Amino acid sequence: MGKRHPIFTDEHEMLRDALRNFIAREIAPHADEWEDQGSFPHRKVFRRFGELGFLGINLPQKYGGSEADFVATVVFAEEMVGCNSGGVAASIGLHTNIALPYIADSGTEQQKQKYLIPGTRGELIGSLGVTEPGAGSDVASMRTYAVRDGDSYVINGSKIFITNGGIADYVILAAKTNREAGHAGISLFVVDKGTPGFTVSRDLDKLGWRTCNTAELAFEDVRVPRHAMLGEENQGFYNIMAHFQQERLYLAIGSVSAAQKALELASAYAKERVQFGRPIAKFQVTRHKIADMATDIEAARQLVYNTIRMYVEQEDCQVQVAMCKLFACEMATRVMNEVIQIFGGYGYMMEYPAQRMWRDARINTIGGGTSEIQREIIGRLLLQ
Ligand SMILES: Cc1cc2nc3c(=O)[nH]c(=O)nc-3n(C[C@H](O)[C@H](O)[C@H](O)COP(=O)(O)OP(=O)(O)OC[C@H]3O[C@@H](n4cnc5c(N)ncnc54)[C@H](O)[C@@H]3O)c2cc1C
Repeated sequence: MGKRHPIFTDEHEMLRDALRNFIAREIAPHADEWEDQGSFPHRKVFRRFGELGFLGINLPQKYGGSEADFVATVVFAEEMVGCNSGGVAASIGLHTNIALPYIADSGTEQQKQKYLIPGTRGELIGSLGVTEPGAGSDVASMRTYAVRDGDSYVINGSKIFITNGGIADYVILAAKTNREAGHAGISLFVVDKGTPGFTVSRDLDKLGWRTCNTAELAFEDVRVPRHAMLGEENQGFYNIMAHFQQERLYLAIGSVSAAQKALELASAYAKERVQFGRPIAKFQVTRHKIADMATDIEAARQLVYNTIRMYVEQEDCQVQVAMCKLFACEMATRVMNEVIQIFGGYGYMMEYPAQRMWRDARINTIGGGTSEIQREIIGRLLLQ
C-alpha cells in the first residue's frame, strides 16, 4: 500500500522478489497436498532454501550467511506467507530465525562450525525446547534439570509443543543447572538427536500449522559433554528473554502479512460474489468490514515497522515489541474471523483458503508469549 516504507532498501526489495518468486514457483503449488498429508518433505525443502541462500541470511559469510541486516529477516517473515501453509513457514522460520541466532549469538566457535554451516545449507534442522507440560508462560518454573558430572552434564525432564521437535537434528534445550535459583538457575544446552536417553515421546496433532511437526520430547539420563552448554551457565533465562524480542517481532510481522493476504482474498471475493442481484461488495456492511480490516492492518503494520526501526537503531523498545506482538497477533485473528464471514459458507469449507489462514493465525496470540503475558509486560514496564 503506497510508497515503500523507509526501513526497506533496494537490496531488501531484491531479496523480496527472489524469495517471492521461489516460493510461488516451488512451495505454494504443493501447499494443498502437504496440508492434506499433514507434513512436508522437510529435508528437500530445507535444502532448497539453503541452496538459494535464504537460510541464516543475517549470519557472517564464513558460516554460510549473507551478512544481511535484521530488516532482511523482516522481508523473509513477510514473504513466507506466500507458502500458503503456516506450518512450512513456521518450521523454516523457527530454524532460521530462532535456532540459528541462538547459536550465532552465544555459541562457541566449535558450536558455530558444527551447527551454523550445515544449518545455512539446510542440512541440519534446529529446534528450541523451553516449554514444559507444567511450565508454559511461567518459564522459570521449568523442572527439566542438568547435573554436572565430571566433564559432562546429565539431563532429565521433558518438553512440550516443540516446533520441529520430531524432525530436528538438535534441540536448544533449557534446563535448570541450579534448582534453587528460579529463573537465575537456567542454562541452555545443544542436545543432538540420537543422544542416548533423548527421545521424541509423541508428535502432536494441531488445529493449524498442520504441515509442521510439533512434538513432546523426553530426556532420561541424557549425558552431554560440558561443551554442549550454549552460553554461560545460569544465563539461559536472560538469553531466552533477549531472543524473545526478535521472535515476537517475527510473529507480529507474519501476522500483518497474513492478514493483508486474507483481506485481499476477501476483497476479491466480495467483488465477485453476487447475492440479491449485486456483488456483496456493494453492500455497505461489506465495505465497512473491509474498511475496518484494512485500518486494523495498517495500524498494526505501522506499529510493527516503527518498532523495527527502533530495534535496528538499538533504541529501548521492549514495550513496543510487546505491543506489536499483542496488537498484530490479536488483529490477525480478528481479521481472519471476519474474512471467513465474508466468504460465507465457502469460508467454512476446507477447499477454500480462508479456514486455513484462520487456523494458522490462531496460534500467534499463544506462542512466543501469550497476549495476556504481553499485556503484563506492557503494564509492568509502563507502571514501574
Ligand atoms: C503450535 C505451537 C508451537 C510452539 N512452539 C514452541 C517451541 O518451538 N518451543 C517452545 O519452547 N515452546 C513452543 N510453544 C509453546 C508456547 O510458547 C506456549 O504454549 C506458550 O508460552 C503458553 O504456554 P502454555 O501453553 O503452557 O499456556 P499457560 O501458560 O498455561 O497459559 C494458559 C492461559 O493462562 C494465561 N496466563 C498464564 N499466566 C498468566 C499471567 N501471569 N497472567 C495472566 N494470564 C496468564 C495465558 O495467557 C493463557 O491464556 C509452542 C506452542 C504451540 C501451540
